[in-house]
Amino acid sequence: MKLILLGAPGAGKGTVAKLLTKLDGSVQISTGDILRGAVAAGTELGKQAQAFMAAGDLVPDELIMGIMEKRLQEPDCENGFLLDGFPRTIPQAEQLKTMLANLGIELDMAVNIDVPRDVILDRLTTRRTCSNGDCQAIYNVKSNPPKEEGVCDKCGSPVIQREDETEEAISHRLETYNEKTAPLIGFYENEGLLMTVDATSSDAVINAIQERLGATA
Ligand code: ADP
Ligand code: ZN
Repeated sequence: MKLILLGAPGAGKGTVAKLLTKLDGSVQISTGDILRGAVAAGTELGKQAQAFMAAGDLVPDELIMGIMEKRLQEPDCENGFLLDGFPRTIPQAEQLKTMLANLGIELDMAVNIDVPRDVILDRLTTRRTCSNGDCQAIYNVKSNPPKEEGVCDKCGSPVIQREDETEEAISHRLETYNEKTAPLIGFYENEGLLMTVDATSSDAVINAIQERLGATA
């Protein structure tokens, strides 16, 4: 399947994407993971992105489009992809549309995962992330803590609160979302690609997506 996952920070895009990859071999492409990996590795991209990310601001469109143009042409994308955290602005969505048309790739749909703001806030403040750039496993201090406090179950690296998950940075990220990313809902509605799911459980989101894809296939 070839999907865009839309939704506020904390809506569960990453979790849903990971579950969907298990269904049909589609790959998850998270621009946030790619950028955090680059920051952890200290690459040129990481150096350019770091300050924007720490402040909860978006990284400039040009940087993101450069990453995605390469990524979408890698062979593993042929089986399908789940775009998680991209596009994030109208210019990104417009450039993606042109890019996909040039590559001869057709999207199935853009799924808007709609979760109430209080749930989002609670999730983000309790979220913890593995500090290993190659792992980035996600935990939650309330609902899904690592077996040993502060240690990643998967790789043993320290599990930390992301720099952009302080209360101040979170509220800034949500503002940025409302201002820059929420307009994509209208964009994909106009494209005839929008599906909205207002579900707070990832399994319910997966089921709704499968049902819709089954119906159109
Ligand atoms: P979130 O949990 O906010 O959805 P992500 O992991 O998707 O977080 O992104 C973390 C940060 O990486 C964002 O706050 C932003 O600075 C940057 N980022 C990720 N994807 C994009 C994008 N498509 N365009 C611009 N900046 C991005
Ligand atoms: Zn880990």
